Amino acid sequence: MDRLPEGEASVTLKSWCDSAENSDFPIENLPLGIFSVGERQRRAGVAIGDYVLDLTSITDLLDEEWREDLSQPVLNGWLARGHDAQAALRDRLQELLSDERYRDDVEPQLIGQTEARMHVPCLVGDYTDFYVGIHHATNVGKQFRPDNPLLPNYKYVPIGYHGRASSVRASGEPVIRPSGQRKAPDADSPEYGPSRRLDYELELGIWIGEGNELGSQIPIGEAAEHIAGYCLLNDWSARDLQAWEYQPLGPFLAKNFLTSVSPWIVSPQALAPFREAMPSRPTGDPEPLPYLSDAADRESGALGIQLQVTLTTQKMRSDGLAPHVLSHGSADAAMYWSAAQIVAHHSSNGCNLQPGDLIGTGTLSTDSAGGLGSLLEISQGGKQPVQLISGESRSFLEDGDEVTMKDWCEGDGLRIGFGECVGRVVAAG
Ligand code: CA
Repeated sequence: MDRLPEGEASVTLKSWCDSAENSDFPIENLPLGIFSVGERQRRAGVAIGDYVLDLTSITDLLDEEWREDLSQPVLNGWLARGHDAQAALRDRLQELLSDERYRDDVEPQLIGQTEARMHVPCLVGDYTDFYVGIHHATNVGKQFRPDNPLLPNYKYVPIGYHGRASSVRASGEPVIRPSGQRKAPDADSPEYGPSRRLDYELELGIWIGEGNELGSQIPIGEAAEHIAGYCLLNDWSARDLQAWEYQPLGPFLAKNFLTSVSPWIVSPQALAPFREAMPSRPTGDPEPLPYLSDAADRESGALGIQLQVTLTTQKMRSDGLAPHVLSHGSADAAMYWSAAQIVAHHSSNGCNLQPGDLIGTGTLSTDSAGGLGSLLEISQGGKQPVQLISGESRSFLEDGDEVTMKDWCEGDGLRIGFGECVGRVVAAG
């Protein structure tokens, strides 16, 4: 089990694992996650093709210094090590998974992904949700202020609020319909009961790696170094509860009953080929203030990630009907602020970010129908229900409905997938 002698390593980037090609998880991806099998302890793994490679079972093949952090049941300690360690592990895994000389040692440690249960990969100390999807902010704003959808701060401040970490769950967690105060527009007073306007929000999640000390700021030019990776995030939202409770302090019980994430942390190294220039700001928009302005981030701060949301109802599944595509869009054109600007802004007052913190981008919608990231937008607040092939229609989610988010990057023969973020609605408890 010796490492290859210096200079002899030749990574061909073709894995001996056959299912790696043409999957979400080729050898160029190698996202980390936390999994368990049966009653066995949670442990770190890496996705390759249809499999999870158990990292705790190949520590003899990895740098000894990494052993402690990679044998924890969460990845906070590993992510705190920063990009150099992440890149070195990725290089080594590419070597192990491509060089036939390691195959006999590594292949027996592959576990079918269908046998593994995936978990939230970090102990989330804090979860913050932003609102950088400008088309979403505009679409929602129009429902309240048709002539002036964006508030004056939007183009200066990456808007955000503190969410709830305790209810962050991995894909697959049932979505228990929340109950709360609802007040119909024509009612004199509110009543308490199950939400009638349950919705999803399509977002990207950002996992924080290295943190910053309380009282210090992360400069915009260094912000990307603090991002350990990305996932899919569904910010489940009860619109009726939200409309009644959100003023003057913002989202609360309408949001904090559940946030679902896809379990794999897709690294900045894997996404590097899909970085793009930030969309140019429309004429007349202000330039970002200096603490949010960075030439390199302007040139490559956007991510060419495709985003898709599908829906099945109980009836569609029992009739064997194909999922209904609710939207298909892309992240690059949707985000007014980059991930680096989000991180720089979050710490700009001295707030300390910590390894394993989770940040949502906010709902990512395109500027046209077909790419809208919530039912609130698709059904125009319930005025235009979605017609399904089953003959059913939906303004908001019914019990038994299942929402599946899928993201991927694709180009030049390379596909980097995020996997899925799934949730099925069950009746209020
Ligand atoms: Ca949100």
